[in-house]
Amino acid sequence: MNLKELNSKSAEEILDWSSKEYSGRIALASSFGLEDMVLIDIISKLPQPISIFTLDTGRLHEETYTLIDRVRSRYKLEIVTYFPDSSSVEKLLREKGFLSFRESLENRKECCRIRKVDPLNRALKELSAWVTGLRKDQNVTRNDIQAVEEDKDHPPLVKINPLKDWASGDIEKYILKNNVPTNPLHKQNYPSIGCAPCTRSVEPGEDPRSGRWWWENPEHKECGLHQK
Ligand code: SF4
Repeated sequence: MNLKELNSKSAEEILDWSSKEYSGRIALASSFGLEDMVLIDIISKLPQPISIFTLDTGRLHEETYTLIDRVRSRYKLEIVTYFPDSSSVEKLLREKGFLSFRESLENRKECCRIRKVDPLNRALKELSAWVTGLRKDQNVTRNDIQAVEEDKDHPPLVKINPLKDWASGDIEKYILKNNVPTNPLHKQNYPSIGCAPCTRSVEPGEDPRSGRWWWENPEHKECGLHQK
């Protein structure tokens, strides 16, 4: 199968193909949002494993940690956890305080780099491919996603995006049908969950990602993990 043909395949077929094509060198980067929970459920049913890792920024909600433990016990899967470099965090806090990310875009990106991007780069060093929960309709920055695409920020890796064509209603239907565990914050109007101080609930009808870094313009709302 060529990569273009994969664009018309189901999420299960894309993941099944990827688990064989990149055997032992592929992982899901999970923040345990709704899309990631769908992917974990599908991955748990594949004949060939895809490993799962997460980035613990040190600023996550307690509900997220509780969900991670539920995933461990329900699916019997290992969750590999990457932390930020402790000396970089200590330096940031010593020089700029605990909430520097609210003061400027530059400071916010610095915090995301230390707590997310650098640990992600360490995780990706071991891999040839990584699975993401990106969907086209999540953000203006995400409308051209392919099932398998070069990761221009981390060559020669490829990104696997099995849910690229799913709408939020498709995600909800899958979760209900398969009784997939989810973060209770979603029921409190948190459609997208990141770090606790950078995430808030949204009003009905608002852009689902408007609760992330709500003080910034929409075109800046990427944390550096999925830049174009
Ligand atoms: S989301 Fe907020 S707290 Fe988390 S790494 Fe980025 S700026 Fe820092």
